Amino acid sequence: MQPKIEVGILGATGMVGQQFAKFLQGHPWFEITWLGASDRSAGKFYREATGWRLDGAMPANVAGLRVQECKPDDAPRLMFSSMDASVVTDIEQAFARAGHVVVSNSRNHRMEPDVPLLIPEVNPDHLKIIPLQQRKRGWKGQIATNPNCSTIVLALALAPLKQFGIRRVIATTMQAISGAGYPGVASMDINGNVIPYIGNEEEKMESETQKILGDFAGDSIIPLAAKVSAQCNRVPVVDGHMVAISVELERKPELPEMIAAMSTFSSAPQERKLPSAPPNPIIYLPENDRPQPRRDVERERGMAVFVGRLRKCPVLDFKFMALGHNTIRGAAGAAVLNAELMYSEGLLD
Ligand code: NAP
Repeated sequence: MQPKIEVGILGATGMVGQQFAKFLQGHPWFEITWLGASDRSAGKFYREATGWRLDGAMPANVAGLRVQECKPDDAPRLMFSSMDASVVTDIEQAFARAGHVVVSNSRNHRMEPDVPLLIPEVNPDHLKIIPLQQRKRGWKGQIATNPNCSTIVLALALAPLKQFGIRRVIATTMQAISGAGYPGVASMDINGNVIPYIGNEEEKMESETQKILGDFAGDSIIPLAAKVSAQCNRVPVVDGHMVAISVELERKPELPEMIAAMSTFSSAPQERKLPSAPPNPIIYLPENDRPQPRRDVERERGMAVFVGRLRKCPVLDFKFMALGHNTIRGAAGAAVLNAELMYSEGLLD
């Protein structure tokens, strides 16, 4: 049996950092040996520094690790990153410069032209931009990113429809409170309420979706030409972002062809049997009251996107609902799957 690859987590004490600690428990390839956070936490044991907010107990393999300052020094080569966005740019770049492979959740580097914005089922070929990133920046290491937590639901649900020619998309989100980190939105604001604003979220959904569904063209990524319009809302749900999607297509398939395209969609992670890849990345639910966050979001370890209520749209061509787990498929699980894809491509050697 091969020894496991040591990994570290930047921002280990936060909501996404905790999901990393939980999601990586018993991982067949990766083992957490290093945890980093702010200087408020550095020097403490993880169990002291972290208010554990997830179901179940804190994993024993991390509880007794001492939290480090987020400096490259003795950290492992593979680093998952989920720090507060205000500190991400400098810290992630310092790690990449020092030779680390940074697999990031944060928005800071996502839209840079030489940084892949990856969904392994959708655009695994965008990893080919990494050598350009290393040449251009003189880095021994590298940075790869995963999308914003609502974008990933939208882009994964749209990926099987690319074959029909996507022209225009309208997406309206209902996003969970855990998407705002901890303590997130005040209970007085969110209980029994809907907040029709999440800072910069709509712009991120629109531009990230175009980049993800775009094509790698040798030395650049050409964004998908489709227009994307997003409206983002915070709702009193704990985990799971729902997206109501309307789409206009160049070719007009019948409903069964659309459902078949979504249900049979599979790609490199499934072919390579990557450990965190769901057998079916998109699961179509035929019941007319699904998907629902409470009933569906934890299925498939939180790694699938659930789609339902597909029907004709009198304005664009089709409309449907999509649901994904924002801190797993939209954050920690997405980054782990990215790292698995990078490993399978030899990028961690
Ligand atoms: P969070 O709960 O607020 O956690 C923030 C983390 O950053 C904590 O570990 C914190 O450490 C650390 N940190 C703060 N200042 C730091 C500093 N100066 N140096 C090093 N570490 C520092 O936030 P979150 O929800 O986990 O989100 C983390 C990142 O992931 C954000 O960039 C967010 O946009 C992105 N993201 C979140 C989601 C989601 O659904 N929540 C989804 C996708 C992406 P201390 O505990 O020591 O303060």
